[in-house]
Amino acid sequence: CVTLDEARSLIDSTSSPLSLQNFVGGQYIAPHDSLTSSSQHITSFEPKTGRPIYTLPCTEPHAVEAAIKAAKAAFPSWSKTARAERSAILRKVSELLQQNREVFAIWESIDQGKTLDRARVEVDRAISNFSYFSTFILHEQTAARMVDGVALTYEHRSPAGVFALISPWNMPLYLLTWKIAPCLAFGCTAVAKPSEVTSMTAFLLGDIFQKAGVPPGVINIIFGDGATTGAALVASPLINGVSFTGGTQTGIAIRRLTAHQIGKHLSLELGGKNPTLVFADSMVPSVRERTIRVAAMAAFENQGEICLCGSRIYVEKSVYNDFVRDFTAYVREKYVLKQTVGAVASLQHCDKIRRYLELAAEQKATFHLGGAPPTLNEDEAQGYWIEPTILTDVAKNSAIQIDEIFGPVVTITPFDNEQEAIQLANDSEYGLAAILLTTDGARMRRVGEQLEAGLVWVNCWLVRELGTPFGGMKNSGTGREGGEHSRDVFTVVRTLHLPA
Ligand code: NAD
Repeated sequence: CVTLDEARSLIDSTSSPLSLQNFVGGQYIAPHDSLTSSSQHITSFEPKTGRPIYTLPCTEPHAVEAAIKAAKAAFPSWSKTARAERSAILRKVSELLQQNREVFAIWESIDQGKTLDRARVEVDRAISNFSYFSTFILHEQTAARMVDGVALTYEHRSPAGVFALISPWNMPLYLLTWKIAPCLAFGCTAVAKPSEVTSMTAFLLGDIFQKAGVPPGVINIIFGDGATTGAALVASPLINGVSFTGGTQTGIAIRRLTAHQIGKHLSLELGGKNPTLVFADSMVPSVRERTIRVAAMAAFENQGEICLCGSRIYVEKSVYNDFVRDFTAYVREKYVLKQTVGAVASLQHCDKIRRYLELAAEQKATFHLGGAPPTLNEDEAQGYWIEPTILTDVAKNSAIQIDEIFGPVVTITPFDNEQEAIQLANDSEYGLAAILLTTDGARMRRVGEQLEAGLVWVNCWLVRELGTPFGGMKNSGTGREGGEHSRDVFTVVRTLHLPA
């Protein structure tokens, strides 16, 4: 176990950054090995300080192929392993993660920029991913029915094969394990690739898999960027399915790369620009505090770097001024003064967010919090910091209202009535999530059922039950994951007809 200070001094004490290695065939591959002979390396920087912390191989196509072959070789045996045995191994993974919770949280916080508290929540969710799917497979049922007394039909499912599991940088461990856990539970093998921006906790996972007794080749973890490593991985004809979480443009690229491989399973969890609807009834004194808290959490948790964040807030006109005042005061107190937002994940991303803030200033938006350029303390100057930013007076057709900024930036806009609120909420190419703040029970269903969003939270946010379908509408993705929906991703189904 390490403390935060020990992890920091480990980084400081090495003259060159730490060096991550691919995990293939059950072992870490030494850098000189031909499997990762990569002329290129990528340097990863600590968002809070801007210092280099480690390098990772940018795995080239021939080495990607070697990892896929390791997964392919492991498939026949793993896919036939008894469920009870797979379950026991995954339960062991979750126990080992639990024992190393603090180590994972510390590295996640250093690597991604998130606060340590936030990192702990995500490690806990990663632990649940393994414990949930380790028991899910023990209680699965498949449908069987008699057709007119002439034939008995039943569904037979088998593991779909070798998967590419690709994740983004915002919740690195949680999102990668959301794929690895069901993939292995349903008997598939995999090559996983985390984001090149945040690879550390995926690197540490190799050790956990070794200790838990996951057979060699069942899960392989390789590092690299999208253009070199990711593209070679998804395009390989040896890959039977892709479970991808990331940006919409990358999702489109993956569809193109695999368009001719009709049978390849594709699950795409993509971007969002989610609305939060605040109705006047949710600002009555008895629930006002909850309304402000939920809207603020949805906007600024993890620096707004959660695909489910509510970055477009729409408020009923009669309470608009009150909401803007109370929301701004709450965010200043909770997130700015108490410093409960972290740094954003990379310099490139920080620059992108700053360009949107400059655009807001050019377009004469009102900054209730934040500014362009953001005000920074001396110790933040080298890191990738953005103040929580609250904007009003942003035009409907401004890029700030349309694009996914994916940072601590929120807009607030008034609406006149319910119909307009629904129309504004749905006026987006995306359809991932929506947050509905109201005390009117009939409205919860009436409005909630008209929102074009895969996930609607009423008076709450980010509540998850791992069996419920997770995924987006429109350009936010295709396919659903969670419980039996993950089973659809990772298994193939055949229907058998037997004469009665
Ligand atoms: P990204 O699309 O740039 O990268 C995601 C992953 O894809 C990385 O591992 C990257 O290396 C890889 N990649 C890039 N190009 C590739 C290619 N051509 N082929 C294969 N792999 C490729 O996304 P990001 O910037 O890392 O993450 C932010 C995005 O992720 C946001 O849009 C956010 O909304 C989205 N996201 C969605 C969800 C969800 O559940 N819907 C969850 C978290 C994040």
